Amino acid sequence: MSSYTPPLTDIRFLLTRLIGCERLAALPGYNGINEELVDSVLEEAAKIAAEQFAPLNQTGDRQGAKCANGIVTMPAGFQEAYKAFADGGWNGLPVEIDTGGQGLPWSIAMPVQEMFQSANLSLALCGLLNQGAIEALATHGGDALKATFLPKLISGTWSGTMNLTEPQAGSDVGAVRCKAFPADDPHLGVHYKITGQKIFISYGDHDLTENIIHLVLARLPDAPEGSRGLSLFLVPKILVKNDGTLGKANDVRVVSIEHKLGQHASPTCVMAYGDKDGAIGYLVGGEHGGMAAMFTMMNNARIGVGLQGLAVAERAYQQAVDIAKTRVQGRAIGDPKGFPVAIIQHPDVRRMLLGIKAHIAAARALIYSCAYAIDVSKHVADENKKKSAAARIDLLTPIIKAWLTDLANEITSTAVQIAGGMGYIEETGLAQHMRDARVLAIYEGTNGIQANDLVFRKLVRDDGAAFKDLLDEMMRFLPELTTLPGEDAPIMHRHLSRALLQLRETSEWVVKKAKSDASGGAAIAAPFLRMVGNIVGGYYLLKSAALAQKDMRENLGDADFLAGKITAARFYAEHVLPLSGGLAVTVMEGSAGILNATEKTF
Ligand SMILES: Cc1cc2nc3c(=O)[nH]c(=O)nc-3n(C[C@H](O)[C@H](O)[C@H](O)COP(=O)(O)OP(=O)(O)OC[C@H]3O[C@@H](n4cnc5c(N)ncnc54)[C@H](O)[C@@H]3O)c2cc1C
Repeated sequence: MSSYTPPLTDIRFLLTRLIGCERLAALPGYNGINEELVDSVLEEAAKIAAEQFAPLNQTGDRQGAKCANGIVTMPAGFQEAYKAFADGGWNGLPVEIDTGGQGLPWSIAMPVQEMFQSANLSLALCGLLNQGAIEALATHGGDALKATFLPKLISGTWSGTMNLTEPQAGSDVGAVRCKAFPADDPHLGVHYKITGQKIFISYGDHDLTENIIHLVLARLPDAPEGSRGLSLFLVPKILVKNDGTLGKANDVRVVSIEHKLGQHASPTCVMAYGDKDGAIGYLVGGEHGGMAAMFTMMNNARIGVGLQGLAVAERAYQQAVDIAKTRVQGRAIGDPKGFPVAIIQHPDVRRMLLGIKAHIAAARALIYSCAYAIDVSKHVADENKKKSAAARIDLLTPIIKAWLTDLANEITSTAVQIAGGMGYIEETGLAQHMRDARVLAIYEGTNGIQANDLVFRKLVRDDGAAFKDLLDEMMRFLPELTTLPGEDAPIMHRHLSRALLQLRETSEWVVKKAKSDASGGAAIAAPFLRMVGNIVGGYYLLKSAALAQKDMRENLGDADFLAGKITAARFYAEHVLPLSGGLAVTVMEGSAGILNATEKTF
């Protein structure tokens, strides 16, 4: 019931048709990419995800990670599954070959990671954090630090963590109080002593790897107030000797792990740094340059958390379909004397399933397109193309993080609804997906913070230029829909073109509003992000559906799969895109009512 089948047909379709292996192969450094390579990587990853990660999802949830005597123990089977993942080189898939990775594009790494996340969200979170740590260290670390720590992080022999949160510093990272002091020891070279407490640190301790490399935000003496005064330090759990072997334990300990709603197998740790004489740490990036370095890690992780949203939604979808096809209940409408039917025969159940299918298809097309933009930004030679790809990623990051994780919460809940009481009880595993998904909208910057980021950073900062680029691209796609045969394409065209006009007007209004009335802009940032997510996701879905239409016409590919993509796109056009009109009104007219509310209102 709770098994996982990697959605290889859809992944492959998006990679070969929407992204295009030939477009990937045209990027410098990727000329070896072709469909055979893509297939072999996907199939191998799918095997480990389905056979080694997925069977541990429910048992991991039941057993949970345990903390006793300052040591965290992972649930049974997790060590072996992690070893298969690390030994297979999956951890370093998108890392450049000269730094010890596999040198494959993010366009391939993203689907691979999706499969591991779908199979076991709690276990795959370890790799997600590690990936961010690798990116931050590779971008901001000095040569000596990189030489000592990167190879083991990339191989997955060691794992990385991100340490921002403290009791008084959640969304407000600038309130961090952890301290760092320059220290001098001829045997250790330039280093710092770190003291303070961090909370909610995912994989702060565990028994999957030999060492754990913490990236910790702390404040140097005389640092400016707020986030501008933060520096980033690399603090190993076990100190590393000059010859690269492990030395004595650092002054770092896990105090406890949290008992929480979901993701029971992912240890969320309270960490104490420097209880004795200070934890030894090394500066990553410049003094007071901590936020820039941490943002490299956070941006990577924010897209990764969006991917987690897609992944858990896919897992819940598969189980909901399974139940909808096998659970017999009631008779078909209009046939009161007929045989009882599977619940998938009821139009409302089909509506719910189509809603999930369509949103997943939109989300997957969106995030894979962002992965392609990452590849372009890292590999294209032309500076202008590099810059515009980077601007696109920047713009899409809060949308992917918030829209996909809000969807994950809604989709996992709808999947429970489809299964009825069987979904609500723990046995089927559907309830676990709903619990596991809940935190995705909270960690890596809450979705409220993402909405502010979209409005104030991504729109206002460049006067909406990157956003306008995306809008223009979506507008340019419209005529393609008019050339397709059948009744679906005109419907899609009508709804997308109307939504795009509404989005143009609304986004221009939001830029002006946010500049002249910041509170007003902040009040409607979340519905605006929803509107943007719905439309941008819809654009990528309809683009995929147009490709599916073409393939059908030419008798290419699996006809049922292609027809399903078109059906999902039409559903999305009729049921999701029209919401833009309402959201536009809410955004442009709904801020004053929120700001009129005072504490006494509640
Ligand atoms: C399971 C789990 C794992 C985690 N893993 C890590 C980790 O590995 N490393 C790490 O450093 N942290 C981690 N965190 C912490 C996580 O990133 C924070 O919980 C999150 O950033 C929100 O901070 P907070 O919980 O203090 O909520 P608060 O900041 O108190 O926010 C509460 C509410 O107020 C809203 N709010 C706050 N400020 C604003 C604002 N300026 N504008 C609009 N709305 C606002 C928020 O959106 C939210 O709805 C983890 C948390 C959990 C639960």
